[in-house]
Order: sequence, then structure tokens, then C-alpha cells
Amino acid sequence: MTASSLVKVDLDGKVVCQGSSPFSVNRAGWTIHSAIHGARPDIKCVIHLHTPATVAVSSMKCGLLKLCQEALTVGEVSYHDYHGIVLDPKEKELLIQNLGPTNKIVMLRNHGVAVCGETVEEAFHFTFNLLAACEQQVKAMQVGLDNLHIPKADGPVTQNHLLAMQGSGGSDNQGTKWGRGQLEFEALMRTLDNMGYRTGYDYKILPVVKKNGTSVA
Ligand SMILES: [Zn+2]
Repeated sequence: MTASSLVKVDLDGKVVCQGSSPFSVNRAGWTIHSAIHGARPDIKCVIHLHTPATVAVSSMKCGLLKLCQEALTVGEVSYHDYHGIVLDPKEKELLIQNLGPTNKIVMLRNHGVAVCGETVEEAFHFTFNLLAACEQQVKAMQVGLDNLHIPKADGPVTQNHLLAMQGSGGSDNQGTKWGRGQLEFEALMRTLDNMGYRTGYDYKILPVVKKNGTSVA
């Protein structure tokens, strides 16, 4: 996936900007994305994935367990049952009902996941943590559900801990305020720019980019 392979489409699936790509848009992918964008104006980015670990967890009766810090960080997730490849417009309504008015993650049973964000950075933040949580759960489940220790809601992990983990990006020690996932996303963009890619990212703090082995602001 590159910037030049992106095609811009509207909520009706009409191509608004073909960019420099000669290719069309995947209909099932468009169905999922357009359903969410059409019903949730707070969502500006949707990431849909079928990695082996997310498909495995989406297929487990127990769903995503709050086993690890990454699972607690993503907060509450929704579930949507499998109806085959998502092409039926009626399924859009059901998907939106199942996602709900505030949740940002919907586990698509036997299929994968759709992760939403109010920003690209937030969607990436939830995706990154969800992928880690699913991989950890798949590994841990090998001992059997009965042998897993799951932090209890009324245990040492208090509601305040959870709110802090799931909160917005907060401030760093220099007082700079960051949106959810923004600090980490900026670091990843800096890494790409230092590798010679041209991300065009609008940095909050101007990066130190290396040119010919020398750091320049
Ligand atoms: Zn899919």
C-alpha cells in the first residue's frame, strides 16, 4: 500500500479521485468502510484486517479476553456475526447496530476486525494494541481457558487505572499535549523519513531527520 495506490470513493461507492492507480476498489471492503463512515461521523479512519491472530480470537466463543495490558488498553469491543463476504447492503445496518454508538472496535466473527479512530493515529493505536492482545491471547490459550489468570474488574486494576490506560494521549514532561496514539505514530513516521521514505507527515514536533548520516532539524 502506497499513497499512489489510494483511490478516493464516496459513501455510494462512486470514485471521487482515481489518483494514479489503474485499479478498482474492493466491493466488500467498501461495504464495511462505508457502513461505518456513513453512520458514525466521529470516525475518520477505519482499518480492516484479517491477520491470523485476529481471526483466531474473533472465532473464539470467549472473544477478546482482558488478559494483558494491550487488551485492557483497547477497552470494550463489539462483535458482529459472520454472514459470508460482506456485500449485502442489509448487513451494513446490522454491522452498525453491533458496533454501537461509541465503541471503536468491532470483532467480525470468523473474519477479522474493523478498528475505528477519530484520527488515523487513534485507529493505528487501537490496531497496534489489538494485534498484540490477540497474538498474546492465542499463545496463552494453549494452556486452556481454565488455566488462565484474568485480572478481575474489582481487583488491583482499578477503574482509574483502566481510564488512564484508555485515556487520550495526555501531556509529555515538556507539557506538549498529544492525541491518542499521536506520539507513537509520529515516532513511526520519523523512522520512515529517516529511512529515506517521504511520508509528508504533518509533525507536531519537527523531527530530526538524518541526511547522509548527519542529523539536521
Ligand atoms: Zn474482510
